[in-house]
Amino acid sequence: MVQGTVNLNTQLDREWIQEYVDDWVRFYRKATKEGKVATYIPVLAEANPEHLGISIHGKNGMVISSGDVDVVFTIQSISKVLTFIVACMERGVSYVLDRVDVEPTGEAFNSIMHLEMKSLNKPFNPFVNAGAITVTSMLEGKNSQEKLNPVFDLLEKIVGYRPIINQQVFKSEDETSARNRAIGYYLLETGLLESDLGVTLETYFKQCSIETTVNDLARIGLILANDGLDPESEEEIIPRQIARTTKALMLTCGMYDASGKFATYVGIPAKSGVSGGIVALAPPRVRPMQFPFIDGCGIGVYGPALEDRGNSIAGMKLLKHIASQWDLSIF
Ligand code: GLN
Repeated sequence: MVQGTVNLNTQLDREWIQEYVDDWVRFYRKATKEGKVATYIPVLAEANPEHLGISIHGKNGMVISSGDVDVVFTIQSISKVLTFIVACMERGVSYVLDRVDVEPTGEAFNSIMHLEMKSLNKPFNPFVNAGAITVTSMLEGKNSQEKLNPVFDLLEKIVGYRPIINQQVFKSEDETSARNRAIGYYLLETGLLESDLGVTLETYFKQCSIETTVNDLARIGLILANDGLDPESEEEIIPRQIARTTKALMLTCGMYDASGKFATYVGIPAKSGVSGGIVALAPPRVRPMQFPFIDGCGIGVYGPALEDRGNSIAGMKLLKHIASQWDLSIF
């Protein structure tokens, strides 16, 4: 589609790109009908399955947004990216990775099976629930508030305001958490938890219940795309090595048991959550011709109708389309 030079700074190119993205959102909104909103956390079932929104933030301050961009939703599993980053900042990458592996599971995000069968002393990766709960136990602090304060500090630096916890979702999740509690007890029994089980689970449910928007997710993606630096201020928000490790994990483990397919057919680091959010990013690329966001971008998507693995169905299709149109793949 995109030929010749695309300079997002000219009004004409902006309008033209905006029109394309609007068209794609309109087209892929139909795919929301093929999915279902998550119901295992009852409050999530109240989401509108037809919602679809996207925000793309470039390094030059350029923002393209389309669809249902104003919907506030809970961050869910995308919080695992943030707690992993904070745990690495507090403890060091090698400390964290000595305790949680970096291998995809090929199993559902909340699978218990692999904990027993393969890796007795190390959950597979920080983005499945077992690994994420272990990471949350490593966060410094005596209670959930102390543990989450640095996560909120990090988010505030990235998105420019201090997000809040959706108490209704937190409560709903806490009340229907048998499987996560089972994982927690298993981790406790194998000696993997570094803080009290009750505190760890409360922190985990709270981190999943942080409210966010596609704009916020795009900002998170942009900082990661830029190896942890804020492109405007050049401030280091996430240390480079941690940003890079996080991106590798997003590429290999970010989309649950659809990660291999997403890496193959879309080719960019991404992390999804069961509320329907996806954070994705494209690093700067060298191409024989110009494409939009050639200097890299962060992308936030929201579409609560999910495929069977728990990823936004229309969101994934939209990302796949944009990645192919703009040659975003890192490969
Ligand atoms: N809070 C959810 C859970 O632990 C998060 C899962 C997800 O987004 N995949 O079950």
